[in-house]
Amino acid sequence: MPAAIISPAACEQHLVPQGHPERPKRLSCVNDQLLSSGLNLAIDMLDTEAASDEQLLRAHSQAHLDKLNQLDEQLQQYGSQPIMSYDGETFLSPKSLNAAKLAAGAVVTAVDKILAKKYRSIFCHVRPPGHHAERDRAMGFCLFNNIAIGALHALEAHGLKRVAIVDFDVHHGNGTQDIFLDDPRVLFCSAFQHPFYPYTPTDVDRAHILNLPLASGCRGDEFRENIHDTWWQKIRAHKPQLIFISAGFDGHADDDMSGWLLNDSDYDWISQQLRQLSDEIPQCKGIISALEGGYELPSLARCTVAHIKAIANLSGF
Ligand SMILES: [Zn+2]
Repeated sequence: MPAAIISPAACEQHLVPQGHPERPKRLSCVNDQLLSSGLNLAIDMLDTEAASDEQLLRAHSQAHLDKLNQLDEQLQQYGSQPIMSYDGETFLSPKSLNAAKLAAGAVVTAVDKILAKKYRSIFCHVRPPGHHAERDRAMGFCLFNNIAIGALHALEAHGLKRVAIVDFDVHHGNGTQDIFLDDPRVLFCSAFQHPFYPYTPTDVDRAHILNLPLASGCRGDEFRENIHDTWWQKIRAHKPQLIFISAGFDGHADDDMSGWLLNDSDYDWISQQLRQLSDEIPQCKGIISALEGGYELPSLARCTVAHIKAIANLSGF
């Protein structure tokens, strides 16, 4: 079955201050690598609409949406290209809210397409990222929790019973944990550097939340061994009808955002393993992955393209 990418051009219009790591070039560098690899010829490129308020409000409070709408209104009243701080690290520009709604809408569209049996894997090439956004607040460069909005669309609009979210960004997916803390329909697996940003509680006593803290200096063998021992069996037992991935590449040794020392082959390994799991679990209808972190452009571009190939089962391409 074919694979697809959803890459809304307007996600590049979310602007941040000079020197901020979560910058528009993160998307264009991956697009360049897709073209030079020729992978764009083997994979469909799909359009998306912005997520609706109803879809956003499955994951977020009305107060959170109201606050972002209010900031957006203020931004529309200023001239030129103002950039407003939300919390000192998360920013909004006049087109940020639209970009964020498209980023969430991409994951919603991916769910619709996979459940219509049109595709087996879809990568959402989006920004702002999502996994730090909690029910009531934006944080860590994230405005809406894209992957959570997609997972809730699968559960609430399509009536799925169980999904899994695997988060291999180097930072803990605190927002996703916050949204699904009391929702055992969602098995949430997050591997992250610890102790490290966002410093929110990770020792939660929930059977459906598998937090895997790994110290600074973590290398591929330690990463693979721990994930193999703690996640795969639990994911099989959960029998997810969809596997979602929060794909962050900021644990790469070339990325100075963190102290992890992963390399290209480690990201390829986890992506291949997840695709094999999705093929092996009879109930699983496919994989939906959304971009989270990754700030060193060459490693981000290489690892993202390898990740898309792996989940599309096109590694020989
Ligand atoms: Zn990250």
